[in-house]
Amino acid sequence: MAEIIDTNTDIAANLSAVNRQIADLVKRADRPAGSVTLVAVSKMHPAASAETALKAGHRVFGENRVQEAQKKWPVLREKYPDVQLHLIGPLQTNKVRDAIGLFDVIETIDRPKLARAVAAEMAQTGLKPTCFVQVNTGEEPQKAGILPAEADGFIALCRQELDLPVVGLMCIPPVGDSPALHFALLHEMAKRNGLAMLSMGMSADYDVAIGLGATHVRVGTAIFGQRPS
Ligand SMILES: *Cc1c(COP(=O)(O)O)cnc(C)c1O
Repeated sequence: MAEIIDTNTDIAANLSAVNRQIADLVKRADRPAGSVTLVAVSKMHPAASAETALKAGHRVFGENRVQEAQKKWPVLREKYPDVQLHLIGPLQTNKVRDAIGLFDVIETIDRPKLARAVAAEMAQTGLKPTCFVQVNTGEEPQKAGILPAEADGFIALCRQELDLPVVGLMCIPPVGDSPALHFALLHEMAKRNGLAMLSMGMSADYDVAIGLGATHVRVGTAIFGQRPS
């Protein structure tokens, strides 16, 4: 089946609307201007869509698959060297080398085996992408992320033993749950671990996330439209 591209989506207009709304929410939450970074999630959208956002001046993007990002981003990065690329999907240990070569930020460090593989690869390559620990706040069996009860120990392992540059926490609340409880839990967990960054909030709930301290919101659909299936 041919890929259906929604040509009615005005990516530049959506992007500025989302940016405006973020600025507004930040102000209403009494937080400093610029304290929330918009990660534009371009997964499953063609490179041309990402480039429209790049042309509009946006530089921070999220992808959830290493292979897809490898096809899309090296070319775009040559044209826009100041791009900052975030991995927001699960990372297999056999893709760690590729991921470290491509991403500036890995948001999905979630288990000791992966943390050790990332640390080993960093030592070998000298590349040090910034890391977030993903927490499975809803304790969903099928979902990636360290369980809340194991999070403090895992964060300590990452930072103290493995010397990973962990700056914050990331979560994806369960579908159908009220996200606020999950965002509040993540905030609390970051605070007690002395971590400054919180990646939480997507198209449907980034307003709630900003009110609860998100420093990074990951927004796809509200910018690029429905993802082609
Ligand atoms: C796809 C995805 C997003 C973006 O979701 P939208 O609802 O399209 O904004 C955010 N975070 C993660 C981890 C994703 O996989």
